[in-house]
Amino acid sequence: METILSRNPASGAVLRELQQTPLEAIPALITQAREAQKNWAVRPVKERIRILLNAREFILENLDAIANLVCEENGKPKFEAIANDLLPAMELMTTYCARAPKLLRSKKISLRWAKHRKSHLQFWPKGVVAIISPWNYPFSIPFGEIALALLAGNAVVFKPSEVTPLTGLKIAEIFDEACLPPGLLQVVLGDGSRGAAIIKAKADKICFTGSVATGKKVMAAAAENLTPVLLELGGKDPMIVLPDADLDYATSAALWGGFSNSGQACASIERILVHEKIHDEFVKRLHEKVRLLTHVGNDEAHAGDLGAITFENQKLIYTKQLEELNAQNARIVCGGSFSDEGRCLEPTIVTNPSSAQDNPIETTKIYNEETFGPVVAVTKYKTTREAIEKANRSRYGLLASVIGRDLALAEQIAGQIEAGSVLINEVLYTHGLSETPWGGLKDSGFGRVHSDAGFYEFVNVRHVHQPRPWLPAFKSPWWFPYSQHQMSLFRAFAEVMYRRSILRKIKALPNLIVEFVQMIKSEKRY
Ligand code: NAD
Repeated sequence: METILSRNPASGAVLRELQQTPLEAIPALITQAREAQKNWAVRPVKERIRILLNAREFILENLDAIANLVCEENGKPKFEAIANDLLPAMELMTTYCARAPKLLRSKKISLRWAKHRKSHLQFWPKGVVAIISPWNYPFSIPFGEIALALLAGNAVVFKPSEVTPLTGLKIAEIFDEACLPPGLLQVVLGDGSRGAAIIKAKADKICFTGSVATGKKVMAAAAENLTPVLLELGGKDPMIVLPDADLDYATSAALWGGFSNSGQACASIERILVHEKIHDEFVKRLHEKVRLLTHVGNDEAHAGDLGAITFENQKLIYTKQLEELNAQNARIVCGGSFSDEGRCLEPTIVTNPSSAQDNPIETTKIYNEETFGPVVAVTKYKTTREAIEKANRSRYGLLASVIGRDLALAEQIAGQIEAGSVLINEVLYTHGLSETPWGGLKDSGFGRVHSDAGFYEFVNVRHVHQPRPWLPAFKSPWWFPYSQHQMSLFRAFAEVMYRRSILRKIKALPNLIVEFVQMIKSEKRY
């Protein structure tokens, strides 16, 4: 198939049919990016910042038009397009335009014993960074990664999701309007075969966001060229509700954490572990609040709380997971069916029936596999230890939340959760906090986007080691030839440096000096 269709998930209407980038054209795009990068890397950081800030200005001036496009192609409410896609991108640019000059400056390393020499680190761009993106936050995810990669002096080859190609093209247009030099940002349109072709054509770094299954393919393909990869993959994020939690607060947090972006967020709350004392009341109140959520209509206002399901294939995943659930003795408190001519999955709460002793939902896919839709599974726990064990009993480790009044306990629990971020009395939103790292462990991937750690993903580190200019040059005592004095010198050195007892260190010091002098006097290094 040489074309892809951008569709409005709310109406099903085709927005545009686009040609996929020909496979054979992809290596040349990487070469062009590589050429353009050479000039970009030597331009002062200030100039790169100026261009990025132009881009920020363009976004602000066209906020509504860009947000409308994101809504049309992705189906999300307009508030979410602005608050969760455009603002985080501008925030990230703002933070890192301010921080980049400092982060790119050389850093001294303090050496413990080699005081006769000095070391520092230099940071230089990777070269060409491949950014391969999903459809759920089609603006903020790739935009932020592209901005940081460019700021660090790289060129970018960007493949937006085939589900949201127009948003991808809009990102390229924004950088074009910002006067980014030609060739630096190459857009590849198309399905996974195009992503695979980019990896094969050998970028210098791959920044991939998507499913675990594709992430494994990406890593395997990248291994062929030993290209470093950053993998932002799926999640099945837990939320632990402590017995002292304010139920109104906890259920509001669960509502937004579970159902914003219609649950199509890698860090959506999908498992809610509630203390048995408040479980039933929690479920009741969450259900009451779900009833208040409104659907985004099929019109230009894109108003409402819940958007359409963006990607048709997701509906199959929900259907299968719900079928399995029905076969178990589980309770679907609400939702579980499609509405609005099949465009939306009704927000769904599933739990164990009150009579069940054996927690039937805990063995189901809806509890263990990523749903990536508006579904939350609520289960009970008795003790803090059990809550932590249940939260960690997952192949994923992206985000987690702890909700409760006892902040000391919440922090203690946070310290035992296997996840990239743990939010106390908050959910999901830290993708919008550009100074904080975003990324996971286990099947949620590795590497970080955002934060200084995320910025450094896009640079190479060069260690430069040199003599102190005021010291006369001398040959190092570990060079050839190996001799008895040299051996004694290094034994004495070990005693002085690594003995625990200060007395023994002091005792070994004269020996160290004697051996050093004798070696200097009697031996010449080759
Ligand atoms: P996906 O894995 O199907 O596709 C992601 C991208 O990879 C798309 O651009 C696709 O065309 C491309 N692709 C497909 N096959 C490829 C291949 N063999 N080689 C290279 N590229 C290939 O994922 P999706 O359905 O677009 O997105 C949903 C998934 O993304 C969910 O699992 C979600 O959790 C995850 N996600 C993670 C984060 C995070 O920050 N951890 C953020 C958003 C989404």
